[in-house]
Amino acid sequence: MGREFEYVIVGGGVAAGYTSLEFTNRGLSHGQLCIISEESVAPYERPTLSKGFLLPESPARLPLFHTCVGANEELLTPQWYEEHGIELVLGTRVESVDVGHKTLLTAPGETIHYQILIIATGAQALKLEEFGVNGSEAENICYLRDLADANRLVNVMQSCTGGSAVVIGGGYLAMECAASLVSNKMDVTMVFPEAHCMPRLFTPKIATYYEDYYQSRGVKFIRGTILSSFEFDSNGKVTAVNLRDGNRIPADMVVVGIGIRPNTSLFKGQLRMEKGGIKVNGKFQTSNSSVYAVGDVAVFPVDLYGRIHRLEHVDSARKSAKHAVAAILDPDKTGEFEYLPLFYSKAFAFSWRFYGDNAGEAVHFGDYLGTTFGAYWINNGRLVGSFLEGGTEEEFEAIGNATRLKLTVDDPDDLGRQGLNFALTV
Ligand code: FAD
Repeated sequence: MGREFEYVIVGGGVAAGYTSLEFTNRGLSHGQLCIISEESVAPYERPTLSKGFLLPESPARLPLFHTCVGANEELLTPQWYEEHGIELVLGTRVESVDVGHKTLLTAPGETIHYQILIIATGAQALKLEEFGVNGSEAENICYLRDLADANRLVNVMQSCTGGSAVVIGGGYLAMECAASLVSNKMDVTMVFPEAHCMPRLFTPKIATYYEDYYQSRGVKFIRGTILSSFEFDSNGKVTAVNLRDGNRIPADMVVVGIGIRPNTSLFKGQLRMEKGGIKVNGKFQTSNSSVYAVGDVAVFPVDLYGRIHRLEHVDSARKSAKHAVAAILDPDKTGEFEYLPLFYSKAFAFSWRFYGDNAGEAVHFGDYLGTTFGAYWINNGRLVGSFLEGGTEEEFEAIGNATRLKLTVDDPDDLGRQGLNFALTV
């Protein structure tokens, strides 16, 4: 027969943690909620894995970064789940879901019935094999998605302190890992196919600022090419990477950060999919009214973009989770999700935030030789996106607010001159 719960969350990451907190804040009875997670630990703030977790001194360790400390809310330890009567089934993969019969089957063979299912399965790292490069299961090649990966990365790094690391990819994860490797005294080379780092968000001017600093810390950039193969020693450890442009880089370890794929396979053929994720409405309800999807898997309507979109950022995981719970428990009083996309990163002493959309013309402002600078994006005469490095909390909130209001911009040059003041005086 199997156990039955009113609410079941499949996946135990960021969105699962914030979902649990919202349920309890709104009044949850013991035994109503069950979380099933493949990971062996309670939900934690995943972004810590590429930041505090990799610090050479006083690194962040659980239980200190369980959700929901990232949003300055309660720390949900395993004991917290117990005290709130939430069934936390850890180290357990969900093998299949039958949304028609409202059941799921776990790897150990238990059938669990639900009334409402919340999908929070997140994403997995893309593997090099998918791009035709073999051998990435070698013991000194690291990906970084979960705690097990992070522990492995730390062990590999410590086994070759002072050696050379090659970082494959130029996105924020690769940039954060490169900074952490440098802080751990590794000699770092970054390789990516684009002309500069963070190509999906940064303008060349913003990218140059960070790349110059990274270079001053010893990081070498090899741009415009990709990995073609690895070289291994007789123990199967990587000793060098070969690039398509003919370069060969000796390596004691390799970190790969080339993107992610949402974990949607349990639901193929059962729920409506779009843009690589699970399509939901403005209340995070999927094409089956008893099933909700939140976090990295959800493709939801983003007003500012004027289209549906999937976001891979922690802020949207947290807020989508809370909104879904509100919609489940209080459907009449819960409207559509009104969300201003927010994405942040931290590396070395840098800390930036980006709000909105980077469509249209970029207008740079601030001191690109100093520590506080940014950019606004103007599309069809309106402010649609803003980026700020090194701001105070008040300044970050101000650029977010100005972007939310989609203010009219008549003169981009004047906007550039006003810089932060434009947002601060709204
Ligand atoms: P996840 O947090 O990935 O959780 C998914 C969970 O589902 C996992 O526990 C997984 O094991 C489990 N699961 C999957 N399939 C199954 C199954 N079949 N059965 C059982 N369990 C399953 N975003 C930012 O905005 N800024 C940052 O600085 C930032 N840094 C990051 C650093 C790292 C290292 C990583 C990996 C991500 C970072 N992110 C950052 C992105 C952010 O962490 C994600 O957007 C967020 O974790 C998404 O939450 P989620 O709950 O949807 O998925």
